[in-house]
Amino acid sequence: MDYFAGIDIGSTAIKIAIVNEEGTLVGHKISGSGSMFYKYAKQALHDLMRELNITDRELVYTVSTGYGRKLFKEAEENISEITANAIGARAAAGDIEIKTIINIGGQDSKAISLDSEGNVVNFAMNDRCAAGTGKFLDVVAMNLEIGADELGEYHFKSTGTPLSINSTCAVFAESEIIGLLGNDHSVEDIVAGVHYSIAKRIIKLVKRVGIKERIYFDGGPALNEGLVSAIENELGKEIFIPEHPQITTALGAAMLALESYGYEQTHKEA
Ligand code: ADP
Repeated sequence: MDYFAGIDIGSTAIKIAIVNEEGTLVGHKISGSGSMFYKYAKQALHDLMRELNITDRELVYTVSTGYGRKLFKEAEENISEITANAIGARAAAGDIEIKTIINIGGQDSKAISLDSEGNVVNFAMNDRCAAGTGKFLDVVAMNLEIGADELGEYHFKSTGTPLSINSTCAVFAESEIIGLLGNDHSVEDIVAGVHYSIAKRIIKLVKRVGIKERIYFDGGPALNEGLVSAIENELGKEIFIPEHPQITTALGAAMLALESYGYEQTHKEA
């Protein structure tokens, strides 16, 4: 059996997806990027192949993507994370036609508009400021002494109107949050306030490409159900969250690896 890997070297996490000849996801792995992207990416791929019993010979084509994609020299090809995200969303959504992707990563956020074939027609990106990114959520969680993976749980325990967080910069938001804690506001209400402030920012970004349904939300922060709920409430629309939202871009790269390999084989025979 031949296998195909997609490696998404993000600013915060390395995501690896492996698909088989049918394009079915057979396994994935998420590990921290740290500062040694290349070393960790190689190690994570090696570990995943061992877990899945895939040999070097069986892994026939690898495509890298993400912020550190060019550092992964073993890859046969590399593609932009926008293209990989679009291919991955189409694969993960199955029969559901996705027209808009919201991606929140560790250090940026994006809105991507797709046509009915799943091709990228437009995109908007915020990579200048940490507000509205995973980093912002991580800083908030750290200040509140909870884990980023607990934010969703706290959100749903909030009672009353979510607090409004006015700072648009992560550094100022940090001191605003400390101030709110000092004024006896609960962690739950602060968390809900942060989610609503991120939701408002992300919707502004999505409006730049146009809000067309269905809307697909991915990246690590899409695992946060509180944030999902805040975005849905602010949009007044339901959004589609794939089963593994953090690995869509890696899955897209793996699907492209499968396609490129097929193309290479056909042209070799011809
Ligand atoms: P990048 O591709 O830029 O490295 P990711 O899409 O991997 O970014 O997202 C990383 C972010 O995802 C982290 O900063 C963190 O806030 C968030 N995250 C990761 N796991 C979880 C989880 N289980 N629950 C909530 N948020 C999470």
